[in-house]
Amino acid sequence: MKAAVLRNIGGPLKIEELEVPKLKKGQVLVEVLYSGLCRSNINEIDGRKGAEFIPHLTGHEASAIVMEVGSGVTKVKATDYVVCSWINGSGLTAQPVKYKSAKGMVNAGTCSTFCEYAIVSENKVVSISEEVNTRAAALLGCAVPTGAGVIDHFGIKPGQKLAVFGIGGIGASALMRANALGIHCIAFDVLEWKLQWVSENFKIEAFHFNKFRYRNFFDFAIECSGNKLAMEMTFECLNSNGTAIIAGNLKPGENISIDPFGLVRGKKLLGTWGGECFLDKDIPFYAKEHLEGRFPVEKLITGSYNFNGINNGIRDLKDGNLIRGIIKF
Ligand SMILES: [Zn+2]
Repeated sequence: MKAAVLRNIGGPLKIEELEVPKLKKGQVLVEVLYSGLCRSNINEIDGRKGAEFIPHLTGHEASAIVMEVGSGVTKVKATDYVVCSWINGSGLTAQPVKYKSAKGMVNAGTCSTFCEYAIVSENKVVSISEEVNTRAAALLGCAVPTGAGVIDHFGIKPGQKLAVFGIGGIGASALMRANALGIHCIAFDVLEWKLQWVSENFKIEAFHFNKFRYRNFFDFAIECSGNKLAMEMTFECLNSNGTAIIAGNLKPGENISIDPFGLVRGKKLLGTWGGECFLDKDIPFYAKEHLEGRFPVEKLITGSYNFNGINNGIRDLKDGNLIRGIIKF
């Protein structure tokens, strides 16, 4: 099978032939249909996880068809239509995979999806309705649960004021869920086309970050940009009972600075791991919301690439040209 292998920090990914090994306990072989491009993939490519895993296979959200299951797997069976995600669900936790290439072994995680066929761990797959569009379904693996999950699992409700910093796949998923629930929300970014995209697609005001004038205002603020100033602003813009939720990441060695008196007064600063979602419960829920028209996930996809063009997608994501990009296998 063909796979996009990270051989050097900074990339580009190299399309190579890999051998699919025999399945071990708890592993599931899937044929990948679509895989989403996430900012975390760029962090990996740029060496955030270190160089010790190289050569490495990345990608962590996909729609797929189950081909075969290893021993002990009971949750899915061959021909099931599934979402693959880095977020944990029920089932066995299998060992990370190693694929054989002409140049030696290639490392992968328990859910690495930038490849035609992927071996994923049972606890990283969940079956969904075959009616869900295969492109949209890929985004149920990371962007949607992380973004929408924050709204649902942190108890953000209509009547509360919400700020979302950073309009990418995660930020836009949070906006889409907030919009569906009728939560008053304001979006911030630095790219004009993204601000326009928000006002065209949602009933939500969007402002350039530099024009930000809110202090002591929001009940909740979600940070999805991975930008230091935005992260600090996420805390600063809260009212004295407000909660800041950090979903983005900074570069290694970069820190944020906040006024601790805000904490003394009652502000809360939290982070989120996958929107606190549980794969088996939350992904089918968002799939249902999608099918019933309340969660038009496909709107988040603003760029599509074939597998050979994966590096173009990565470049577009780096350059700020995408909400979410998707790779077709
Ligand atoms: Zn992701």
